[in-house]
Formats: sequence, structure tokens, C-alpha cells
Amino acid sequence: MLTLNNVSKRYPGGHEALKAVNLQIDQGEMVFLTGHSGAGKSTLLKLITRLEKVSGGQIMVDGRNVSRMSERDIPRHRRRIGVIFQDNRLLPDRTVFDNVALPLVIDGCHRHRELQRMVRAALDKVGLLNRERSYPTSLSGGEQQRVGIARAVVNKPPLLLADEPTGNLDPDLSRDIFDLFLSFQQVGVTVLIASHDLELLTSFNRRRLKLEHGNLISDFVPDAQESSE
Ligand code: ADP
Repeated sequence: MLTLNNVSKRYPGGHEALKAVNLQIDQGEMVFLTGHSGAGKSTLLKLITRLEKVSGGQIMVDGRNVSRMSERDIPRHRRRIGVIFQDNRLLPDRTVFDNVALPLVIDGCHRHRELQRMVRAALDKVGLLNRERSYPTSLSGGEQQRVGIARAVVNKPPLLLADEPTGNLDPDLSRDIFDLFLSFQQVGVTVLIASHDLELLTSFNRRRLKLEHGNLISDFVPDAQESSE
């Protein structure tokens, strides 16, 4: 699903955020991306969505060469990736329903019935079907993050990327959010989660990639005994 060959990223000003990173993630895997603040986690996610361009190397997503993609192909590429942010980025003046519907509307889905069916299916998956008429500010932090997840999965992308999705949540809610990711993995979605919440990560025996100053310094699956899944 995702392959990085010798990927490097140098930002203007000369800072090298990623250095010759090689990795492969298969379809249906759930993988954690860890590392200190500034290690290059967000940069790696931005290269995958083509918010940033690689300085060297190659990224393949689902058989497509992201590094060589033309500007015209980028929107279609992004529609196949669901992205979840730490700060959920919901529109405060739109209802939960409208926030989740946004990717479909941008996509040109104007058939009201189809849109309604897809939005409700996404809200159902995150357990918020009864809040579709609410505004984000009336929801708790955990609920807002779940709306953000519903929005990311509404058009059923095969790849989900999350950047510190539980950074603003307490441990119990964080666990719920990770369980949700697990439920998407169980239906075949590939999930890559950047997180430095090591305590939470150790309770899932999933593959862990660790970045340090732009180098991928480890890539391993922990022992099953460690986890409490
Ligand atoms: P992480 O997500 O692991 O905290 P980042 O990918 O955000 O790390 O950052 C990696 C390094 O690249 C940091 O040193 C950061 O300062 C630098 N960096 C990130 N974005 C930019 C940018 N737009 N311009 C210049 N340097 C950047």
C-alpha cells in the first residue's frame, strides 16, 4: 500500500527533516510512527499526502508514484487518503453532519440520499449518529475527534493517516480513539498513526516505526505479551 525508497526531505533553509528513509507498509496493516518532537513524523505524513514534495527518493501509494504526480492528479490522490489531525479542524459554524459531509460535497456528490447514507454510516461507525445536528463546540473533545475521524473515513479511503490524534485527550478517551482505528484496520483499511504516547502504544502489539532526527532508527513488532488489546 505504501512504499518509501530512500526518501529525504530538506526544507528551504537547509534543514534535513528526513534522511534516506526506506519502509514498506502492506494493505491492512496498522502501524505506529513514533519519535521525539521534531523527529520528522509530520513531515513524513505530509510527503505521503503531497502537502510537501520529497527532496530525494520515491514514495508509492497504492501503486502510484506520489513524487512524480502532476498537480492535476493530487486532488484524486488525496481523496484516497483519510487524514486525522490532533486539533480535529472541524468547522465550528457547521453541524456535525455538514462537517462529515464536506469531503463528499467537495468531491461533487450532490445526490442528497447518497450523501445522507454515507454521512450516517460514518457517524454510526464512530458512535455519534445521534449528534448529527449538533455543532462541534457543543461536543466534548473526544466526540469532536470522533467527528474528525468520521469525516476522514466518509468516502472510504483505503489509507488513513493520523497525526497525534490523541494529543489533546485524556488516556481513557485516547484508548477509545485507538480502538476505533483498530476497527478500521479490521475491515482492511491501512492505518498509519504518528504518536508519541508510548504508554498507549505499548498496549497494542502493532508494528512501530521510530524516527530520530530524520532517520528511521527502528522498525519492529513488539511481543504479543506486552499488549492488553
Ligand atoms: P515531528 O512531527 O516529529 O514533530 P516535523 O516533521 O514537524 O517533526 O519536523 C521535523 C523537522 O523539520 C523539525 O526540525 C522542524 O523544525 C522542521 N520543519 C518542519 N516543517 C518545516 C518547514 N515548513 N520549514 C522548515 N522546517 C520545517
